[in-house]
Amino acid sequence: MTTLVRGGHRARYRVVLLGGGYVTLHAYAGLMRHAGRAVRAGDVQVVVISTDDAHSFHGFTGEVLAGLLPYDRTRTPLVDAMPHAHVVLGRATAIDADRRVVRYVLADDEAGRHVDPQHDSDSDSGSHSDANSDPHHERVLDYDALVVGTGGREPATAVPGLAEHGFTLRAPGDIAVLTERVREAAAHRGLRRHTVVVAGGGMAGVEMAAAVADLGGARVRVELVHSGDAILPELRDEQPRLARRAEQELRRLGVRVRLGVRLASVTEDHAYLSDGTSLPATTVIATIGQRPVHVPGLDAHRDPRGRLVTRPDLAVVDGVWAAGDAACVVHPTTGEPVPANALWAIKGGEHVGRNLARTLRGRPTRPFAYRGLGQAASFGVGRSISELYGIPFTGWVAWVLRLTFFLRFMPSRRKAAQVVTDFARHAAHGRNAPAPAGPAVAEPAVAEPAVADLAAARTA
Ligand SMILES: Cc1cc2nc3c(=O)[nH]c(=O)nc-3n(C[C@H](O)[C@H](O)[C@H](O)COP(=O)(O)OP(=O)(O)OC[C@H]3O[C@@H](n4cnc5c(N)ncnc54)[C@H](O)[C@@H]3O)c2cc1C
Repeated sequence: MTTLVRGGHRARYRVVLLGGGYVTLHAYAGLMRHAGRAVRAGDVQVVVISTDDAHSFHGFTGEVLAGLLPYDRTRTPLVDAMPHAHVVLGRATAIDADRRVVRYVLADDEAGRHVDPQHDSDSDSGSHSDANSDPHHERVLDYDALVVGTGGREPATAVPGLAEHGFTLRAPGDIAVLTERVREAAAHRGLRRHTVVVAGGGMAGVEMAAAVADLGGARVRVELVHSGDAILPELRDEQPRLARRAEQELRRLGVRVRLGVRLASVTEDHAYLSDGTSLPATTVIATIGQRPVHVPGLDAHRDPRGRLVTRPDLAVVDGVWAAGDAACVVHPTTGEPVPANALWAIKGGEHVGRNLARTLRGRPTRPFAYRGLGQAASFGVGRSISELYGIPFTGWVAWVLRLTFFLRFMPSRRKAAQVVTDFARHAAHGRNAPAPAGPAVAEPAVAEPAVADLAAARTA
């Protein structure tokens, strides 16, 4: 069932941001930097529709898993990160670029709670309309400009049992649960060692394997499973010295690397590999590449992997922009698609924000001209590898470079400062550092008031 929310007091220009990740956060920042006055004056309304109520700073996932940073540091509520936007906690279900509308389902509707933004936000007290007894009650929102930043997901269903028994680390809360599980295994005094299987020998898999081994210590055995003949294929060709350094770090931490095999299936207590090996594993983490989140629509504008193909200015069609893991953005000099990582999502998002502001002023848009910076991975405090403009760094220098870059792009200055304090505390006290104050898991931001705001803006 569909509700058309129309009429009433309407901002002159509506920008809808799909997703609460790097792309949309930086598109918002770019828009505010170049057209913030119009947003604050109400001439431009910004609406964010996101399945997650907080931005996840994935870059520090390894540090959280290794117990160096609390999970809370990586989570910034969208209502704080985008204070001039209406945040709607929901899932975009379709894009109709011809009519310039996006369809979505509120998270509370999906969870079976009664929320009707056209009436009120008192979720539990109102009578249930027909629309709201439908758990997939679809709503429609029209836009003048739409930014698709829905990112990617590990293909959990590609490996039988992975969705039920494994972790993919994209789902909010996965990291906190996993860290607790490894901590418990490390403290366990029984005879059996706990085995953690990490599937995928790319940058994320290598970092996760190292982090689990670091936190788990002698009580936890870590097996890294990679289908290729060497880990870190994305680094090996251009920076073989850094790839070798990463292998050394894995050896130091006692991570066992199995090459030329895939994760075939997962059960509650085993990981089965493509060569017939079965590993008794109660924890399986998959970093096996990712697929773009598919929001139906714009199907003529996708590449074979399902990514939205962008024009040089990052528009997909008139009025729709895309960047990050959900998009195929071509590098301005190599002509190859840019990698799916945070740096490119941030820079793509910033560019979209700038072009949105130019469009508002009636100026021509500009092509995306960013050429890249480098890549980095960490294996503990003072133990990193970094490549900056093609120059390799290792150890403390690499660690400081990576940290400086990450702090610069954290959405919350307060959390960035806390991260510095956490690392300083760790440097002073090591694993015995006193626990930092604050919740282990970020309190969820409340979506209903923002939904009510949106309804107020749209209802006669
Ligand atoms: C564990 C891990 C570690 C990583 N480490 C690094 C690193 O060290 N360095 C690095 O450069 N990159 C790293 N990455 C990759 C990086 O995080 C991604 O490339 C980046 O997040 C892509 O940004 P994005 O904005 O496209 O998508 P995301 O940041 O993933 O944001 C997508 C957003 O869309 C929302 N969403 C999804 N579907 C819908 C829908 N249907 N409707 C509405 N909202 C929706 C999600 O909830 C989320 O808010 C890591 C990724 C992971 C998973």
